[in-house]
Amino acid sequence: MEMLFIFSIIALIFFTAERIDPARTQPVFRRGIFTDGIYTVTSILVRVLVNGYLFVMISQLGETFFPAYLIGVLSGQPILVQSVAIIVLLDMFFYVMHRLKHRWQWWWRLHETHHSSQDLDWFSSVRFHPLEKVLDRTIYLLPLLFLGASKEALLVLATVDAMVASFSHSNLNWRIGPFIYIFVGPEMHRWHHSSDPKRRECNYGNNLSIFDWMFGTAYLTQENPTSFGLDDSRYPEGNMIKQFIYAFRPIPSPEKDESQSREIKTGKSH
Ligand SMILES: [Zn+2]
Ligand SMILES: [Zn+2]
Repeated sequence: MEMLFIFSIIALIFFTAERIDPARTQPVFRRGIFTDGIYTVTSILVRVLVNGYLFVMISQLGETFFPAYLIGVLSGQPILVQSVAIIVLLDMFFYVMHRLKHRWQWWWRLHETHHSSQDLDWFSSVRFHPLEKVLDRTIYLLPLLFLGASKEALLVLATVDAMVASFSHSNLNWRIGPFIYIFVGPEMHRWHHSSDPKRRECNYGNNLSIFDWMFGTAYLTQENPTSFGLDDSRYPEGNMIKQFIYAFRPIPSPEKDESQSREIKTGKSH
C-alpha cells in the first residue's frame, strides 16, 4: 500500500517535470505507453507474489538450515545503517547480474523487454519481462535473508529504487553534476538504452554508478543517444503478450551453426 502511494507521488513529480524541461520532444502518449501500463500491473503482482510467498518460504528454509549467527547481521542496527548497507550490497548484486544478462543469451531474452522502449521516459522504468522480475527478486532474497534488514529499511530501499529508476529513465534535460560518480543519472542510463548494441554495453548500475566507475564500464558524455530500443525488426512492439512469448524463441546453437557452415563449405567444394 505504501508503495502505491510513493509511486503516485513519483508519477506526479516526473510527469510534471518532463513537461517543463524535456530532453527530447515526444508526445505525452508516446510509443508503448499502454503496454507500460500493463507492465505496471504485472510488476505489482510479482512484488506481491515474491514478497508475500517466496520471502516467507526462503526465510523459513534459512532459519532451518543456517546457524542463527549467520542470519540477521544487520538486525538491531539503526535504520540508516541498514538502508545504506542493503542499497550498496544489492546494487553490487544488480551490477553483476546485469552484466550477465547482457552476456548470457537466455537471460538477455528476458532482459531485452526492458531495452525495447523506443521512447524513453520515467514510465519506461516499469517495463520488465515478469519472469526477469521474479528471478531478480528471488536472487535478492539471499543477501536480504543473511542481512536481516527491517521492514522500514526495505521500504527505504524500495523508495530509493523507484525514485532513482524513474529519474534515470526520465526524459529530463537534467544532469546531476559530480553526484554522477556515486549515483546513476539520466545522462548515464539513457546510453544503456541506446539502440546501438555496441553503445549500450555500458552503465550497468541500478541506483549507484560506483561499480561502473570501479570496473571500467562507465560511459559519460555531453551528448545524448539519438535512438532507443532494440535492433531487432521482428520484436513485437506494443503487445505485452507477444513480448512475453518472444523471449522463448529458440536460441541458435553454435554447433548447429558450425555444422551448417561446414555443410555449405562441403557443398561448395563438390
Ligand atoms: Zn540492460
Ligand atoms: Zn533501464
